[in-house]
Amino acid sequence: MYIEEGTGEYETCNGCRGKKEVCEYYEESNEYNILLPEEISGGFRYVYEECPPDEDPITFIPQVIGKRNVEYKTRFVDCYNCEGTVEKS
Ligand SMILES: [Zn+2]
Repeated sequence: MYIEEGTGEYETCNGCRGKKEVCEYYEESNEYNILLPEEISGGFRYVYEECPPDEDPITFIPQVIGKRNVEYKTRFVDCYNCEGTVEKS
């Protein structure tokens, strides 16, 4: 029987490089709009289609219908991945 064990060794987290926090980009006009990496590098946000009234909003998958320019800001948030280090597997 194989039992998975941690190695007890730790390495620096790739998400935050050991800083325990990551820089997050968000839209100036709406702090809940987190930008995707390609949106940050492109300086735009994708615009998605609205859910039609006869569709279930839970299962509806909106398509990208355009782009718009965006003003964004940055903030530091706790790394979602680690405590600064991650155990080697
Ligand atoms: Zn991390």
